[in-house]
Amino acid sequence: VIRTFEGVQTGTGHGVHVGEVPIGTTPTDSGYQLKDGTRGGTYTTDMGNGAPSDGSPFARPTDNWGDGLPSNRESAAVDAHFGVAATWDFYKNTFGRAGIRGDGVGASSRVHYGNGYVNAFWDDDCFCMTFGDGDGNTHPLTSVDVAGHEMTHGVTAATANLNYSGESGGLNEATSDILGTMVEFHADLPADTPDYLIGEKIDLHGDGAPLRFMDKPSKDGRSADYWRRGLGGIDVHYSSGVANHFFYLLSEGSGAKTVNGVAYDSPTYDHSTLTGIGRDKAAAIWYRALTAYMTSTTNYAGARTATLHAAEDLYGAGSGEYTAVAAAWSAVNVGTAVPTAPSLTHPGDQVTALGTAVDLLVPTAGGSGTPAYTADHLPDGLALDAATGRITGTPGTTGSTTVTVTATFPSGATASTTFTWAVTDANSPCPSAHLLGNAGFESGAAQPWTATPGTVDTDRGQASHGGSWKAWLDGYGSGHTD
Ligand SMILES: [Zn+2]
Repeated sequence: VIRTFEGVQTGTGHGVHVGEVPIGTTPTDSGYQLKDGTRGGTYTTDMGNGAPSDGSPFARPTDNWGDGLPSNRESAAVDAHFGVAATWDFYKNTFGRAGIRGDGVGASSRVHYGNGYVNAFWDDDCFCMTFGDGDGNTHPLTSVDVAGHEMTHGVTAATANLNYSGESGGLNEATSDILGTMVEFHADLPADTPDYLIGEKIDLHGDGAPLRFMDKPSKDGRSADYWRRGLGGIDVHYSSGVANHFFYLLSEGSGAKTVNGVAYDSPTYDHSTLTGIGRDKAAAIWYRALTAYMTSTTNYAGARTATLHAAEDLYGAGSGEYTAVAAAWSAVNVGTAVPTAPSLTHPGDQVTALGTAVDLLVPTAGGSGTPAYTADHLPDGLALDAATGRITGTPGTTGSTTVTVTATFPSGATASTTFTWAVTDANSPCPSAHLLGNAGFESGAAQPWTATPGTVDTDRGQASHGGSWKAWLDGYGSGHTD
């Protein structure tokens, strides 16, 4: 063999949901087939809306697939083929994972499954994705987030293998929603702007509403926003809400927020206000928890522990990411937030005019419980309220002091901050003090002045104005230098 050559092609597809996208194809004697040589050989077949069979890859004479309409059988195939590739790319580029099992083998896709079949599913046995065409065979369930969701079930099966019932079933479903959403963000398609909604493109209910909402899962009318006793007894697609909500809060924080034009408003169980750490870090924490710590029986309490371990591995035990994970779980009623180390905010150096009333609050951050406050070296006339940390009063004396405010928490933990406080008099802006050094020369030397030898003396012939010593500058009515 002198030379071999594998002709990997990039064709152009027009999907129902993905719009115009590049897709991986392979040339044949008579044209091209929907088989991707660059992503583990993944291929897409037509089930013919009939009985289950694996079928053979879509094939056509030119490398231009589908027309964007469900009536063209290639359009849904483009969606599926792209969705599988996008899922492969997300796991490969983000976590270095080669395929669903991590073994470099690409999963295949089967489209046009059944007649009016309103679902899509992952099957570990065929190691393949199957997509129905939806109501009237005109609403294929082939959006990117659905593909990412279903194939993530394969990743879960190959890693934590969470049981598909009880709380672990909810975590299994949530893992697919979380990482399926991340597939959508990674693909970043103009025709499918990334969001924290699940199945917003496939219109399963026929009213344009998504299947699920991550910012406030109960918006679907059934999913749980917060953990509660008995959560494991409800359908896994609804108990997943707690973890979806956790992931949204960890990524984006609480309250109202618009991302890519979609308005969200995420509540918290403990009425805390959270700031997100970003979806990339949140996804890295979830993926590490899934692949390193979760097992088949992990429940919500276990997921909290697993994600805290993951955050510690990735970002450190005392990191902001670690405390953010604890706070986000607390916000969905799973465990409590980790108290952060208390601190006092430096109020800045203070300058106050004599006789002007003062009202200064030195705020604390972190810590748990209400601290007691003390202050050292406050200017005369000012006082600190030990219960609130508020400094009030009217300074009565000019001068400058170095003030230290200390907060002592019930646990014994303390925090303090130090700043200067100058009290000035508008009528006498200079603080009263000796500004000249050795002004009467009574040290017997010129220091800190310098002088010609003999200038500083105690000669009584020209006596000093006060004391014994003087500096006699000579001259006697004519120019002279000393
Ligand atoms: Zn699922």
